[in-house]
Amino acid sequence: MKFATLSALSLVALNTISATPTPRANCGKGRTAASATVWLTAPGVNPELKVFGSGDDAHDALRLSFHDAIGYSPKMIKEQKKFGGGGADGSLIKFATTELPYPANEGLEEIVGDEKVYADRWNVSYGDIIQFAGAVSVRNCAGGPRISFMAGRPEATGAAPEGLVPEAFDSVTTMLSRVADAGLTPEELVDLLASHSIGVQDHVDRSIPDTPFDTTPTVFDTNFYLETLLRGTVWPGKGHNNGEVASALKSTFRLESDYALSRDKRTSCHWQSFVNNQSRMADRFAAAMAKMALIGQNPAKLVDCSEVIPVSTLRAPSNAKMPVGKNLFDLQMTCPANLFSNLSNLPGLLGKLLTAVDRDSRD
Ligand code: CA
Ligand code: CA
Repeated sequence: MKFATLSALSLVALNTISATPTPRANCGKGRTAASATVWLTAPGVNPELKVFGSGDDAHDALRLSFHDAIGYSPKMIKEQKKFGGGGADGSLIKFATTELPYPANEGLEEIVGDEKVYADRWNVSYGDIIQFAGAVSVRNCAGGPRISFMAGRPEATGAAPEGLVPEAFDSVTTMLSRVADAGLTPEELVDLLASHSIGVQDHVDRSIPDTPFDTTPTVFDTNFYLETLLRGTVWPGKGHNNGEVASALKSTFRLESDYALSRDKRTSCHWQSFVNNQSRMADRFAAAMAKMALIGQNPAKLVDCSEVIPVSTLRAPSNAKMPVGKNLFDLQMTCPANLFSNLSNLPGLLGKLLTAVDRDSRD
């Protein structure tokens, strides 16, 4: 993903969705959704699907899924009597001329154009194609969980208002308030940021496009949550940009929003809990993505087509890897509750040290 702004998104997702009366079997059998047939024949059969499954397109597809869905504000409707956006409704494609010029959506032009072509060709809704492409893009990365996919979203009825996408320079309070308005918890925001494990920046510092947020940008692993906790000491580009803070490594980029959420008392414990816990991160991410994909939608009117999302065959390492030259003393961990325990299985001397410390702390 190219995250000039906050961007976001498994099997656990299916459990989340199952709380709603959705006829999952109908996608493959009864095909009650108007669009079910195309989803069934797309992956593996339709080579065009690959457009959402590699490189920049995959990054952009995931970013688009968040930017489209978060455009939803019940608060705006209540307090200002104004349309607050339709959430995951495809408005960013249907009303692209309105929404693409919003600064937060910079860089989405190409993926919006690409996905529109396929939605029109396959005769599916823009809301569906956006969440479908987001789910497909994740599974193509090593360690990427399978994300559920619900089909049948009606076309958007209006453009989302400007200002609903959290920005990298927003305060934690502003970010949490914004996502709460759209129905997401602080923990779910942190869950969705696992997307930054496979993301890059392009527009915060334009002089260094494609700079990743962790040292393993092709692997959906917990390194992102670990590396963000390292003390920032260098600027990967020429210096500070709005929405940027110093990074621990010259090769990685750090968003101010990631830095703030990783250290804020409201979110730091949840953040730290993902370090070295691949399954927890993947499961939580998939569940949060599934919830996000339904923002503004009525799940009872959608059809569960999760079976069309392929399962990733590439695994991520079970342990995060401390970057070369960094160690325990470079970490800025503000949550005392899990200061050591989830780092104690780090390989090498650091792991042995942490295991010893963890054991002593429990004596
Ligand atoms: Ca939308
Ligand atoms: Ca990674």
